Amino acid sequence: MSTGDEAHRRPVLKLIVVGDGGVGKTTLIHRYLTGIYLDQRMTVGSGFATHPVEVDGLTVVLSIWDFAGEERFRFLLPKYCLGAHGCLLAFDLTRPTTFFHLDDWVKLVREHAGPIPILLIGTKLDISPLTRTEAETYVTVKGLNGYLETSAKDDVGVQEAFQLIADLMWARIAYAEPPHRVPEPTKVVDHEVSQ
Ligand code: GDP
Ligand code: MG
Repeated sequence: MSTGDEAHRRPVLKLIVVGDGGVGKTTLIHRYLTGIYLDQRMTVGSGFATHPVEVDGLTVVLSIWDFAGEERFRFLLPKYCLGAHGCLLAFDLTRPTTFFHLDDWVKLVREHAGPIPILLIGTKLDISPLTRTEAETYVTVKGLNGYLETSAKDDVGVQEAFQLIADLMWARIAYAEPPHRVPEPTKVVDHEVSQ
């Protein structure tokens, strides 16, 4: 059996990355996928990439959807959220407005993706003063699944963020009772019948 065949059988977990434009979503994803810090300004529309990740001793595939936060692309959000298993919700530690807009993002994600795990990410730790307490309080009040601070520039917290959300997504999918299972796109999982 080829590696390609095995790769096709891996469960696919859809991860959406949301937050205001400029908070560092694309840079964070790029750092995670390539190990490289891209100092750029970009994101037109939304991008998509896949990456293997270990969860619970099993290799699954993260399909990572990078959303452009600009208002003009928001009409795409329902489609973007469809079938998502988890969400990284990013705000910029150096720009309070991006924190104040979190409510809008949580509302959109809940409306279109349901009660999926949401991990709050405070970005640009390398140039930030700090707001840890506020963010942690927010996570508790809104019933989110955790808070991490990252620097894509200094490579701080990036692997941890993707690993934690992957673990949270997997835990919900693998161990939830059937009524709470998220049907799409985990139907590609057939490792259970192939062993
Ligand atoms: P997006 O619109 O949320 O995808 O944001 P981008 O990933 O395009 O990043 C916006 C800007 O923030 C770019 O100029 C990045 O170089 C910068 N940036 C992203 N991550 C970091 C970081 O960890 N530290 C610093 N200092 N700048 C960052
Ligand atoms: Mg972007």
